[in-house]
Amino acid sequence: MIKSIINNLSNVSLSKKRGRFLSDKSYGYDTVFFIAKLILRNCDGNKFNKQKLRPKAISFIEDIFNLSPGTAGAVNYFVETLNLLDFGNILEKEGRNTYKIVRKDILEYICENPENAYIFIYLLTFYTYKNDGLLGLLNKYCQTKDISEKEKIIYNIFNIFQKKSISIGATGSNWSKQLVKYSLIIFGYVNNQYYLTRTLKIKPQKITIEDVSLNVKGTRTPDHLPKKNDYIQSFSIDYVLGQLEPYLFVKSKIDPAKTVITKSLASDLADLKLDIFNFNAVDGVGDIYDQKQFNEFENNIRRRNPSIQSAFRKNLLKHNNKFCSICKFTFEKFLIAGHIKPYTMCDNTYDAINHFNGLLLCPNHDKLFEGAKYMTIDSSSGKIILNDTAKCSKDFITLDGQHIDKRMVHCERKHYLRWHNEQFYKQNT
Ligand SMILES: [Zn+2]
Repeated sequence: MIKSIINNLSNVSLSKKRGRFLSDKSYGYDTVFFIAKLILRNCDGNKFNKQKLRPKAISFIEDIFNLSPGTAGAVNYFVETLNLLDFGNILEKEGRNTYKIVRKDILEYICENPENAYIFIYLLTFYTYKNDGLLGLLNKYCQTKDISEKEKIIYNIFNIFQKKSISIGATGSNWSKQLVKYSLIIFGYVNNQYYLTRTLKIKPQKITIEDVSLNVKGTRTPDHLPKKNDYIQSFSIDYVLGQLEPYLFVKSKIDPAKTVITKSLASDLADLKLDIFNFNAVDGVGDIYDQKQFNEFENNIRRRNPSIQSAFRKNLLKHNNKFCSICKFTFEKFLIAGHIKPYTMCDNTYDAINHFNGLLLCPNHDKLFEGAKYMTIDSSSGKIILNDTAKCSKDFITLDGQHIDKRMVHCERKHYLRWHNEQFYKQNT
């Protein structure tokens, strides 16, 4: 695949297309990774409409880069990422808002994992510099330790860039500084082991997938968890080095055993986000919920909103098998859309309407599960746990210790089940 990418990049040059792609925004490889996924999931054959992807892309970018909603930054990241893919001959701009996907295979390669997005960006930068006669200077920059020598090299790169592309701006302008700075970073990361970009300051804290599921749009990140793209702590530098070995300036010893990559948390996070976006888009959650109404109480009890309850049930039926999660009872009219964290205790409409905060249950099992008194489902294993009273019933005893379908637990639902488990143990000690 790398050979095929290189063939595709054989003519990239700043003089041929816009040179702005070398800005910092393009180097958010995690953004490239996500937007590639977004494109593939939303394209119509080999075309897609930029405007249609825009709100989802921007929402994701605001989230992972921790930008306040509505800042111009997020829009720039999105546009720059499309420019980058255009510059790399993967996309071709056709009209004001339409793009053609020229190399779907490369887009798919990028989507395999975030490291591949990084590898693509590295190669794109490498071949741009090569084709514009800058590779020697860059190589020298990475080899030299003398600071004043490094500064001279940077100045030379500025000048050559400026002659190549009018969109770069004057030498010394912020724009030209960024162009050089971020390409040096992308090379420096693997060649000199600098930090990659400001988006890849890795924290050592270990995060599990259930924590990741909390960190998505519409949910709140608890204070004890790191924010946003700090989750991309599993970035595998060995894999990247293994793939890029022939293109490194500084040779490093790579252990072939370490060059295999496993699915990372970043991938799971991106998939989860796409699922949630999908869920919102399809069901028009924004139209039917009303936070103001949600905050109305009657005798200290939250007033139910029938449209929220019906959307919740619809979502639950749509995203799950249409049977009781415990016993597979199927008569749809009797199936109950039960909240795990009850409607009246939800903090906001997101929790109230989120199908992950629910289980489809037959009337008996709904009664058993309701209020976390008689039964709960373990949030990590999916094991059914009964209290002593329920265990005394010959109708229920056989359920104890059985497991529900693990797919029901290995998702955002885990977060709500954990709450349910706590309530259960509080009432049964
Ligand atoms: Zn049942």
